[in-house]
Formats: sequence, C-alpha cells, structure tokens
Amino acid sequence: MRFVIDHDLHIHSNLSLCAPDPAQTPEAILKYGEANGLKTLCLTNHMWDPAVPGASEWYAAQSYERSRTALPLPQSDKVRFLFGAEAEMDKNFVIGLSPKTVEELEFIIVPTTHMHMDGFTVEGNEDAEARAQLWIKRFDALLDAPLPFEKVGLAHMTCSLIWRNRYLEVLQKIPLSEYHRLFERAAKAGLGIELNFPAYHMSQSTAEIELVPYRIAREEGCKFYLGGDAHVPASLADRMIHFNAMIDILGLTEDDKIPFLQN
Ligand SMILES: [Zn+2]
Ligand SMILES: [Zn+2]
Repeated sequence: MRFVIDHDLHIHSNLSLCAPDPAQTPEAILKYGEANGLKTLCLTNHMWDPAVPGASEWYAAQSYERSRTALPLPQSDKVRFLFGAEAEMDKNFVIGLSPKTVEELEFIIVPTTHMHMDGFTVEGNEDAEARAQLWIKRFDALLDAPLPFEKVGLAHMTCSLIWRNRYLEVLQKIPLSEYHRLFERAAKAGLGIELNFPAYHMSQSTAEIELVPYRIAREEGCKFYLGGDAHVPASLADRMIHFNAMIDILGLTEDDKIPFLQN
C-alpha cells in the first residue's frame, strides 16, 4: 500500500522568528490539516532550552517558555495536533534540550544540517570536504545522544543550509559506506527520517545526488515521516504536491512509515 499522506510533523507558527506572518497561527495550521485529511500534525518551532547553556542570540530569543505560549494547541475530532520542537545542535555537538523538556515534548526534530549559522553551528569557513565530514559527525552525535528516538526525527537531511547553494557538492563527498553505516545505526535506534526535499520537478542531475541518502536509508530499514516545514500560509497550501512527489520518487509504502504514526 502506498505511503499514506496523513500527517505533517514539521510546521512552524509565527512564534518562530523566521516565520513572522501573523496569519501563520496554530488555528490556520489545524485548518490545513483538516482540509487535507491529515490525522497528525506537529508544531515544531525553533527552540533552544535555556536549561542548556550556550544559546546563540537568535536562539536566546526563542526559549522553551516562549514556544510553550502556543499551548494549549487547538484540537479537532479528526486531527491530533502535537506540541513538538525543532531543536538545534551547536558546533560542539551539544543539543539544546534538557531531559525534562525532551520528556514534555511530544515529537522532536533535530536539524543536524543547520550549517548556516556561522560561529554557532559551524565556524563558517568550512569547504565542501569539511562540511561532508561535519554532516557525518553531527549525525553520529545525534545518534550518540540519550534521546527517546521513537519520537525523534532527523530534519531535512539534504537541505541547502548544508552549504547554501552548493549543498549537492557536499552530499557528493559523503562516502556511500558512511551513508550505509549511519542509516544502519539510525534504523537500529529507531530514529525517524524526515521527507523534506524539493521532489516536485526535480532535475535528473539533482535526483542522482540528493536521493542517494534516502534510498540507502530505506535499504538499511529506516522509517520515514513527512515534514512540510511550512513557515507561511502559502507554503501550507502547496504541501500536498511536494508530499506526493517525494512518495512517488522514492516509491514509499506504508511499511516505510515510522511506528510513531502507525496507530
Ligand atoms: Zn530547519
Ligand atoms: Zn523548520
């Protein structure tokens, strides 16, 4: 059975500093879920837990307490709206989450690929080879973290933030053997892999590089979830096109879905 589009576990509201549109509210997000027949949504605003020292200025302004002002989230008979977070890993591989916060959040996504925050997540002067090594090291660091991986996802693992417009150069430098090793680890741990890449009208040359980690992840037994990463209402409106394209291009089935969503 084809992978059913019944969830979106990566959505920002206007509490995220990069999503300031006043119309991007939890109510608007719930309506998006209802209109598209989704059963599970997760609010994942950017957040650094102040219980962990070392927040950058941008993250200091997006504390756990601030993200909690979204509570209680609106609910409906058809949609389960979960309270989660898009956490962060700094350049010392520290994840900005305390054990208490980990327990309280219903789903957590960790963007090991936020390599655009010079001085905070990376030094900023790394070349393609160094970024490929960091992609590997940050993934290992996530898997080494004491997290309940059944409710944790690896956010946008192939996004352009890896190296702005040159991220494909970085992905190409990651050895296939390392992809296999990491996804074998991820599958064993039960870490969810986020489907969040521009599959719609993807060029053949991009697909040949960008789909490699997803295909290897599947081969190694990893499970997936959809993450639309909407920041504005217009992007909520076109998520289904992207979700369908990702499912088709990878040929995903219901067996490929994270157990977290299979109830
Ligand atoms: Zn992100
Ligand atoms: Zn995001």
